[in-house]
Amino acid sequence: DKDLADGSAQVISILQGEGHEAFWVGGCVRDEYMGRTVNDMDITTNALPEVTLSLFEKVIPTGMKHGTVTVLMHGHAYEVTTYRIEKGYEDHRRPSEVEFVDDIEKDLRRRDFTMNAMALAMDGRFVDPFGGRSDIDDRLIRCVGDPKVRFQEDALRMIRCIRFASNFGFMIAKDTWAALLEQRSTLGWVAMERIRTELDKLMSGPDPLRGLELIREGRLYEHVKMPFPYRGHQSAYISAIPAVRMSSPEQVDVRYALLLLGCRIPSSTPLLRQWTFSNRRMELIKKLLQLQEAWTENSEGLTSEQARLLWIRCVLIAGEPIAALWLELQQAVQTAGGTPAVDIPQARAWLSGMPVKSLRELALTGDGLLSAVGRRGGPWMKPLLSHLLLLAASGQVGNDTTLLIEEAKRVIIDEGI
Ligand code: ATP
Ligand code: MG
Repeated sequence: DKDLADGSAQVISILQGEGHEAFWVGGCVRDEYMGRTVNDMDITTNALPEVTLSLFEKVIPTGMKHGTVTVLMHGHAYEVTTYRIEKGYEDHRRPSEVEFVDDIEKDLRRRDFTMNAMALAMDGRFVDPFGGRSDIDDRLIRCVGDPKVRFQEDALRMIRCIRFASNFGFMIAKDTWAALLEQRSTLGWVAMERIRTELDKLMSGPDPLRGLELIREGRLYEHVKMPFPYRGHQSAYISAIPAVRMSSPEQVDVRYALLLLGCRIPSSTPLLRQWTFSNRRMELIKKLLQLQEAWTENSEGLTSEQARLLWIRCVLIAGEPIAALWLELQQAVQTAGGTPAVDIPQARAWLSGMPVKSLRELALTGDGLLSAVGRRGGPWMKPLLSHLLLLAASGQVGNDTTLLIEEAKRVIIDEGI
């Protein structure tokens, strides 16, 4: 993105114009070197946060205590952070103290991995004191400094290590991996939200299975409240891993659903909650799992027409978007060499053949029904409307107001409502 690069160059120029040092730093330098798309560009400077704040028109003091100021430029936001060192890591979590320093190398030293501890100057010069470029060339993740100390300081780095290895297809340096195995029990101290953010990135990546395998190999699941491998379900988890290849469903939450299915977890709700998923994401995953259950528990030994009606009922309950995602999930199972729960082309054809896919599309509204039958609203309405919806959706009754009213009246008489 040219705008993104231009804006950040502008920010760096302004800082330098005032006599300060400024560099691109961290993930964007790594991604640029690797030829990956850069999504955000962080800047590091020796200017103190108040100084940075005073130099730009559109600035937000997002984290002054940690030295971070957000600068808005050319419609993009840039985090500009003062060179700093971190101290007083307590409980294997965030540092309790930061100190601003005047030497970029000291700032780079606090960063987690050699590939993330590089800075790039406007003139193209790299500041790469720990051999980040050479590790990238060798496809290696390596801690800056003593890995044992670095993982001890902040246990989240272990998950980040695996996340990067998984997303980039890199190996983990021997001493880094050994330290990870030694420090893994400290993971339990880290806030779930931070872990989930990293796992979301792992799960969204090109090869989540690799990350999950590393988590298993490192036995990290014994120390984190993760939905997979979840305590007591380790063996299910292990056997589920080869059964899921998760690079094909586009949406990360469909991948999580696939994983939970693979783990055969009896109830996903407590796990998803523990895992601090938002309600919106939790609902989506739960609906996918519910659809799976509704289908698999009722579809054995049905005739084709019965199966079609069951499928249509499932679609109406789950909603079309969920049904479409569920079919993607089945597709992923099939691609992985597994057996999908449904005949995918058949279900797709049934789905696209539905003349009505939700109550909103039904040619009879609740009010329309009330005035047609001359009754007051009540609990009798909902099942009746559902019945009409199913008939219209399956083509047994046309989606036509008159026909639907006729059917409603017939049901009311037949069933003595
Ligand atoms: P991504 O491309 O996924 O955003 P990233 O490397 O930019 O990856 P961020 O979480 O955005 O990751 O962090 C930005 C930079 O801050 C990292 O490149 C690294 O230098 C440093 N950093 C982030 N988290 C840690 C940590 N837990 N310990 C040490 N340094 C960290
Ligand atoms: Mg980043």
